Amino acid sequence: MPKIKKVLVANRGEIALRIMRTCRELDRIAVAIYSEADRKSAHVVYADEAYCVGPARASESYLNMRRILEVAQSCQADAIHPGYGFLSERAAFARLCEEKGVTFIGPPWPVIQAMGDKTEARRLMQAHGVPVVPGTDGEALGMQAAARKAEEIGFPVLIKAAAGGGGKGMRKVDKAQELRQAMALAQSEAQSAFGDPRVFIEKYLDAPRHIEVQILADTHGNRVHLFERECSIQRRHQKIIEEAPACIMTPELRRAMGEAALRAAAACNYVGAGTVEFLVDRARRFFFMEMNTRLQVEHPVTELITGLDLVAEQIRIAEGVSMPFAQQDLNINGHAIECRIYAEDPSAGFLPDPGRMRLHEVPAGVGVRVDAGYDGPGEVPVHYDPMIAKVVVWGRTREESSRRMARALRDYQVAGVKTTLPYCLRVMESAPWQHGELSTHFVQDYPELTQPEAVPYAQVAALAAVLHRQDNSASPTHDARSAEDGWLQRRSF
Ligand code: ADP
Repeated sequence: MPKIKKVLVANRGEIALRIMRTCRELDRIAVAIYSEADRKSAHVVYADEAYCVGPARASESYLNMRRILEVAQSCQADAIHPGYGFLSERAAFARLCEEKGVTFIGPPWPVIQAMGDKTEARRLMQAHGVPVVPGTDGEALGMQAAARKAEEIGFPVLIKAAAGGGGKGMRKVDKAQELRQAMALAQSEAQSAFGDPRVFIEKYLDAPRHIEVQILADTHGNRVHLFERECSIQRRHQKIIEEAPACIMTPELRRAMGEAALRAAAACNYVGAGTVEFLVDRARRFFFMEMNTRLQVEHPVTELITGLDLVAEQIRIAEGVSMPFAQQDLNINGHAIECRIYAEDPSAGFLPDPGRMRLHEVPAGVGVRVDAGYDGPGEVPVHYDPMIAKVVVWGRTREESSRRMARALRDYQVAGVKTTLPYCLRVMESAPWQHGELSTHFVQDYPELTQPEAVPYAQVAALAAVLHRQDNSASPTHDARSAEDGWLQRRSF
């Protein structure tokens, strides 16, 4: 396979910037695409070339496969990096790239297709000796068979959409009497959300930990795992704080989960960077949940503990280069944490709060990496995921990185929108976090961490002064606005 010279990044925000930075380091031309809402976005400014692909609505721009491929061909990009979300796990898009002779930086489309179907993925994993969460072998066929299976594995059970993703399409059922109605609802929800009504049943594990293993596989049959990440702190089944390594790991468990992840990769002939997600119960038994066939949002924590650049590895694998390291060459160095900073209101159930950020100053310093989608203040658009940035820190120990994260979150200044900054800070300073007592129920178990706090008057006054100064310098005729919409976010939580 020839060397890739020009990469079109079919994404936006922080991940587009993060991919383009590596392209620059590797001397590849980085091409951005953008929607009309993103004309002035940081990823557009940073790119070597940038092309508008349509209106704000994602279905007409970032998900517009034909238009994106037209742009790739007309600007002579020889590869497309899809990032995460959008087209990253659409087998049809990877296939279209192949048909048009553009390298898709990701696994072959049949792998994306197989792993995108959770029932197919479970079947394949079981056949290759990877433990899966107890449940139906394929889709849940007929009410009687579903009821028998649920009785066999025991309530509560979880009905899941075969084509589900993004934390959507799951329904917990506590008793047999609720199963019939829940199945009907789950099927119709799956049909409307994913265009595929198929559902299956899994045992509902009580407060498990979400631990996933990063893998890399090249086209020469070499496969390694890059250890684990723990992503148990979630809202709406979606991750918000991640760390590597996981604090409950023992060398035996790490070896067993790493080997299972490599068996999973071999089972589907995986090529590229991928993640095998597991749930781990209190007895430290682990169960395969699904495989993500793309770069994950939380990949930086793995980069910090291994010293690798996963995007660079993806590009080299796409070029057919053999991986220059084997499993025994890889080690864990220190500890890393990622906090996702979303424009969301933690005290209102993490409701999105997009809008104008009037102040946006990111932290810096030893061991602090900020992957942000903004290079200053700006508009968090209503059209897309409201993530502003990821703060990622490295420390020699979990304690050191937790302290560093708390400091970085205090230094992070945002005004104009509510964010997850205060929530993440409280988690870092909480006893359950510090003792490593984590589970996927963490957010519900500690509701006090989501509550807003009274703010000392002096801090409100300090912020008001900053905003007054900024507003006046931005527009001399502008009146100083009330600081009320921003005070919560500035050092004052
Ligand atoms: P998606 O593909 O929508 O992200 P996943 O299957 O990856 O869905 O699950 C997302 C989250 O839902 C998990 O991290 C976990 O918190 C919860 N979950 C999924 N399956 C189970 C289960 N069988 N028991 C308990 N919680 C589960």
